Amino acid sequence: MNWDEIIAVIEAAVAPHRGEGHVADYIPALAAVDPMKFGFAVALGNGDTHCLGDADERFSIQSISKVFTLSMALRKVGDALWDRVGREPSGSAFNSIVQLEHEHGIPRNPLINAGAIVVTDHLVDQVGSGPMITELLRRLRVLSGDDTIDVDQVVAASESRAGARNRAMAHFMQSFGNLRNPVEDTLAAYFSHCAIAMTCRQLARAALFLAFDGRDPISGEQMVTSQACRRINAVMISCGHYDNSGDFTYRIGLPGKSGVGGGVLVVAPRYGAVAVWSPGLNKAGTSMVGGIALESLVKITGWSVFV
Ligand code: GLN
Repeated sequence: MNWDEIIAVIEAAVAPHRGEGHVADYIPALAAVDPMKFGFAVALGNGDTHCLGDADERFSIQSISKVFTLSMALRKVGDALWDRVGREPSGSAFNSIVQLEHEHGIPRNPLINAGAIVVTDHLVDQVGSGPMITELLRRLRVLSGDDTIDVDQVVAASESRAGARNRAMAHFMQSFGNLRNPVEDTLAAYFSHCAIAMTCRQLARAALFLAFDGRDPISGEQMVTSQACRRINAVMISCGHYDNSGDFTYRIGLPGKSGVGGGVLVVAPRYGAVAVWSPGLNKAGTSMVGGIALESLVKITGWSVFV
């Protein structure tokens, strides 16, 4: 099948499901997004991109940003990162607080909220809250060739206002000595990176380095070491979708990361990166229709890492 045919099969597979799932409403600014939206983009190592639907519409990347902050932290902090955050699947909701008490304030992995807050805290420590976001945006802008990629301040403010649970986790970790900066400084940076708005086309393009050993195949720039790249993918495949991670890997067989904005980013090592967006979520917070589209893609392409 050529790419036009593959895209047509995916379009047909998702058509009867459009609008399924529940749009996240615990962040009020996200509740207003049209549940019928659907975007899909595949970026390949040769620079080609194949898109479908609302692939050029920006959406809130939310937890997908955690993949980019993890990449940045491994670059800046290296293995010392793992002193303060684990790399085991949590089997719990993305915003669960229960494990933190038993595990002395060390979150299970960097892709659940508590773990991502620790990663952000490391970066705030290294570069400061504002400069960290500036650096993250600069990289995303360069990788996806769009200087206007930015934080959606309305979403960031909305999440901050509704952020009692993330604040509770941050204070709790602080009580175990696992937060170095004032809670509000770290959370301001965390809410900002979650509120970055990007399109599927941009997101797939920006993540391409994760499919090519840490080296962006278009610019040739080594974004992370090849070892760090393998490790990021390993954490994604085991922890990228919270208490839905096992099922996602069973169905799709690729490293991925979902966000409550309805986006899912997937890495197909040696082939490319894929971003899909459909706001309706399943119970664990992964896009329903996004999962169906990705299942259809891997069935046709055989891109599962277990092939
Ligand atoms: N910003 C969201 C939160 O902290 C991210 C959660 C998600 O996308 N799973 O609740």
